[in-house]
Amino acid sequence: MLEPSSTAQADLHGGRSPWGGDGLYRPRVAPLSQSLKTDVLVVGGGITGSLAAQHLAARGVDVTVVDREQPGLGSTAASTAMLQWEIDCTLGELTGFYGFDRAAQLYRHSVAAVQGLAGLVEGLGVDCAFRPRSTLYISAGEAGPSALRDEHLLRLRAGLPGLLLDHADLLSRFGIDRAAAILSPGSADADPLLLSWGLLRNAQARGARLIDAMVTAYHDAPGSVTVETDGLFVIEARHVILATGYVMPDFVRSEIHRTASSWAIATVPQQRGTLWPGDELIWEASQTYNYARTTVDGRIIIGGEDDDTVDPALRDEKMPAKSAKLADSLTTLWPAADPIIDFSWSGAFGETDDGLPLIGPVPGMPRILAAYGYGGNGITFSFMASRILAELCAGHREGWFDTFAIDRPSPAD
Ligand SMILES: Cc1cc2nc3c(=O)[nH]c(=O)nc-3n(C[C@H](O)[C@H](O)[C@H](O)COP(=O)(O)OP(=O)(O)OC[C@H]3O[C@@H](n4cnc5c(N)ncnc54)[C@H](O)[C@@H]3O)c2cc1C
Repeated sequence: MLEPSSTAQADLHGGRSPWGGDGLYRPRVAPLSQSLKTDVLVVGGGITGSLAAQHLAARGVDVTVVDREQPGLGSTAASTAMLQWEIDCTLGELTGFYGFDRAAQLYRHSVAAVQGLAGLVEGLGVDCAFRPRSTLYISAGEAGPSALRDEHLLRLRAGLPGLLLDHADLLSRFGIDRAAAILSPGSADADPLLLSWGLLRNAQARGARLIDAMVTAYHDAPGSVTVETDGLFVIEARHVILATGYVMPDFVRSEIHRTASSWAIATVPQQRGTLWPGDELIWEASQTYNYARTTVDGRIIIGGEDDDTVDPALRDEKMPAKSAKLADSLTTLWPAADPIIDFSWSGAFGETDDGLPLIGPVPGMPRILAAYGYGGNGITFSFMASRILAELCAGHREGWFDTFAIDRPSPAD
């Protein structure tokens, strides 16, 4: 576990990622110069807090965001920002855990979340290199053509889009030499830092406060929550949303969550016409998978090589070896690539036993709500969290929200 009071943004990632442009779109942050009251206090100004704040502000809620460092420069800056509706657990695995109906419903909510995010970015005109993308889910390791066919059939039964490709189709249409793949529309990619900053700026334009402060203690009372900060002042809120990323306060306990590490590289811009045909998001159908995407300036990003390292220094020490492995994987996947590396980075990564996020009230503290979207779909889940938690703050509850309960047991139990 990452220690909540001492884990800084610098511990959440190392190296350098390609995001944020020249930093011009960074939102302005104010100091906490007096105690204040607000309807909803969002703790954490990464992509999760940004989505929550923007949505609440758009609904006319009085919202305050606090971050103890620079908004966006935590895990969000390390993300590879593949915005997929396909989640880390296949529909088959999720069906094994929770039954077909519930699993299919979750997948459909995930499709709706990416659609919602696309509509939001377009509607607000957020300048964040957002591009609708298809995905190629390619066979790897144990997951060969028959596993992909089973998954594809289950997805069709759930009403999800996608096309099964055999080796010949995949090679002739995409130039990728794997035994099979599922090609699916409806995902996207973006610059996660520009996305987060754009949403925060939009929230600010609608009246949200963005404050530089560290929350040090939470006091949950029947009608409100009062938080202490590292300064002289307190903030009182009707609800608090915890969007602190992989650094969870001690009182948020989940038996199904663990922290790991992940690595990524971005190549130099490739020569025009040498990338795969539709710049699809490519990911492997294996438990710990590698994945690849492109960027608007023609780079290839390839990431993965996940392991259970938690110590930030050890994680960063592994960066040269992990980067070299990722470059090798790229050469195997796409031999035409120029594998010269321009950016190389690492990050803390959270996982749960069922691949689903932790969203909802903290047990015993009904006014404190968690928004922890873990795994390779962190951003899709953050979008879901923003919608679910806004409903909960407004006193509306739907049955499917409980799927993400933070005290749910492991499905393996
Ligand atoms: C290498 C890598 C690749 C990834 N790839 C993808 C991907 O392709 N697609 C995808 O969807 N997801 C991906 N993810 C996951 C995704 O990036 C994360 O889920 C997401 O960035 C988490 O955002 P966040 O806002 O919750 O956390 P953060 O960005 O870490 O923000 C949390 C903020 O809370 C602040 N904070 C913490 N404690 C306090 C406190 N006590 N008081 C005040 N402020 C506090 C921190 O300063 C920080 O700014 C990836 C992650 C990594 C590391």
